[in-house]
Amino acid sequence: MEYLTHCTRCPDSVHCCKNIRELGFVSVSVEEARKIKELTGQAFNEFLDFGPLPRETIRACTEDNKGSEGELRMAQMDGGRILRLKTAPTGDCIFLKGRKCTIYGGRPGICRIYPFWYRQKNGEMDVTLYERPSDCSVSKASEEKPPLSFQEKEEILSQARLLEAQRNLPKAVVRQFVEENRISCL
Ligand code: SF4
Ligand code: SF4
Repeated sequence: MEYLTHCTRCPDSVHCCKNIRELGFVSVSVEEARKIKELTGQAFNEFLDFGPLPRETIRACTEDNKGSEGELRMAQMDGGRILRLKTAPTGDCIFLKGRKCTIYGGRPGICRIYPFWYRQKNGEMDVTLYERPSDCSVSKASEEKPPLSFQEKEEILSQARLLEAQRNLPKAVVRQFVEENRISCL
């Protein structure tokens, strides 16, 4: 699982778990949120956010191509909101502590798949690599030693299928979950 462990070697300056507030957000499904609650013992409203996304983030999603993450997020967005992890005052993911993900075993699907993504081609899903900064150690490694192993590809594709399954889930389900658990909408 060579490519899937490269993020642990990533420099802080480009690390995807850092400065998330500037880069975007870490979306979570209701099911993923339940797993995180179980793992951490925290209440949902301690780690989830349903506040309005910044306009520039929404704009970036609308400008993304078909089949991209932005397009998937637009399909899930509800009045400019999406269920996501909170960020710390530093802008880092709330679960990043001393360069380590404290919920690694239960991290959301988007964290499991990144910086890979997927595309539909002739009715089949294939794996692609996001365009990342030159310091991204996954990008570097994949330039030096492509391709992914069969096992790595399968793991990414199984996450991709889970992400796709979330595309058309009724927004009312998330709304109800947010209201019942008093998740911040500010
Ligand atoms: S995907 Fe690339 S830039 Fe992001 S944390 Fe991993 S190695 Fe760093
Ligand atoms: S949940 Fe873990 S892997 Fe995902 S952004 Fe937060 S610290 Fe990084």
